[in-house]
Amino acid sequence: MAEVAAFTNLGWPCEIDEPARQAGRLIVRTCATFGGAEYTLEVRYPPGYPFFPPIVANLGPPTGTRHEHPCEHTLCLLSDHGRQWKPHSDRAAALIYEKLPDILRINADPLSELAADEEARQAEPFSAYLPYQPCSHVAMPPLDGVPVAPGTARLKLFGHAPYRGFLTSLALGSQTVHYDLPIRNPIAEIEVPVVALTQAPQTWSPEALWNMACGELGHPPSWASVKSNDPRWPQKIRALAMMYPDELQWRRVGPNLTLLIERRNAKPVNGKYNHLAVVRTEFESATFRQTRVPELREFPQRKVALFGTGALGSFVAMELARSGIGRLSVLDCDDLSAGNTVRWALGRNYAGNPKVGVIAHEIGQAYPHTQVKPVGLRLGANNTPGDETKLLDEMLAGADIVVDATASLRVNDYLSRVAHERDVPYIWLSTTNGAWGGMVGRVRPGARACWMCHRYHMMEGGAIEPPVKRPGELDIQPAGCLDPTFTGTAFDATEVVLQAVRLVAGTLCSGAEGGYPDYSWDIATVALRTPDGQPIVPQWTTYRLEPHQDCCGESVA
Ligand SMILES: [Zn+2]
Repeated sequence: MAEVAAFTNLGWPCEIDEPARQAGRLIVRTCATFGGAEYTLEVRYPPGYPFFPPIVANLGPPTGTRHEHPCEHTLCLLSDHGRQWKPHSDRAAALIYEKLPDILRINADPLSELAADEEARQAEPFSAYLPYQPCSHVAMPPLDGVPVAPGTARLKLFGHAPYRGFLTSLALGSQTVHYDLPIRNPIAEIEVPVVALTQAPQTWSPEALWNMACGELGHPPSWASVKSNDPRWPQKIRALAMMYPDELQWRRVGPNLTLLIERRNAKPVNGKYNHLAVVRTEFESATFRQTRVPELREFPQRKVALFGTGALGSFVAMELARSGIGRLSVLDCDDLSAGNTVRWALGRNYAGNPKVGVIAHEIGQAYPHTQVKPVGLRLGANNTPGDETKLLDEMLAGADIVVDATASLRVNDYLSRVAHERDVPYIWLSTTNGAWGGMVGRVRPGARACWMCHRYHMMEGGAIEPPVKRPGELDIQPAGCLDPTFTGTAFDATEVVLQAVRLVAGTLCSGAEGGYPDYSWDIATVALRTPDGQPIVPQWTTYRLEPHQDCCGESVA
């Protein structure tokens, strides 16, 4: 066959793994000679070969510290996830023949300029190769500027099968860094000794790492109790952290930390009482999170007051939390019904609960850097005035923007005035019946025109009316989605949501250097259908908000 022939043509002996072949897999072993040294290679062909490149493992001798997996010895012959691999012409033998010499050259002098030219500029941290306990995760604060020094850490655990938690503080040398999130009911809070190593440990098994760390510490750490109702699960737990310099960015070494946790079960699991695991740690903080969305650097310091958490507002809330908004107050009076979930941000597991409570709970779990204040209130209902004022004051205290997703003209009118009085921007959004179209608008403090000016312009045909599915007579979504006449998909409605969130981002980052760019318009309408219902690529039309002569404009004498 062609693959084997390609190896023999290079003069490399080639042997097919028979048991693998009978199991339907192709694995080939060969010996490649470079610079007088002979490397025994195992070439594993993935089921999708040649669309996916072969996996090549070096059975010996090792090529060096870079581009060879320290435990599995697979070679990194193709950078950038194998983008250079050409499935219809490349063959395994030629790939090894061309690329293995590069790895040998880089490993002969890893810091040389030659290596820099040939190498993909990608870090190879020790921590990337550890055999982590599946599904476990412990967050810790970024360690920039923290010395690699012995000390102690505090570990807050929320689960032990798998392990979930945070390192809430790290005291190393004279420095202490803190990290905590308002997640309640930990099952254990334990002190973890931190040992400092001058270089990454060149060993990968949990037992070897544990023994090395205990040796460094001089004794094993002490056991701590765990709260658990399940009699099979641990009564006791102990942990050790190893701190060491690691290549966190290409050729840039920084402090890293690996966590080892041992638990003692009340009953044996797979014949063993004790279980030792390497637990994945990850740097995390509200600021660190925003480095992936640098234009939203302002978001953790900003507060949004969001009114309405229905087919539009629920998605707005989740999108803002995902984007790292610091504080979010949400107002709604509805409970979630299972039938609603066709047009809601979350699923039927929350049915029967107040929508604002669901939003607050889900964001608390998924995006805990966002503080959510839920307010259950129906505006315009027979509320006690003092109570309503107090709740609205809480909603709006410190808010940088009011976002109105109620799609109710009465509420729009009211909230646009409330925002004006408080000198904060007001953004509203709505969809038409059928979600055939929609609208996003904004009134900024100090604008010459108001929301009512916009209504006057609309009534006079000064802006394109988004298309409406008949027989919906209303030009906006009826307040509350219980209205059986309102139909339309979530994927059409979220077209409007995403544009509204972009407008919120532009408004909140306006004037901040390098912030999400602001828009020059204030009103945008979208058509998702032609007037007779043919779907089209969303067509947005934008307008400036102009004063109307019967409202904020010059009066006509
Ligand atoms: Zn006006």
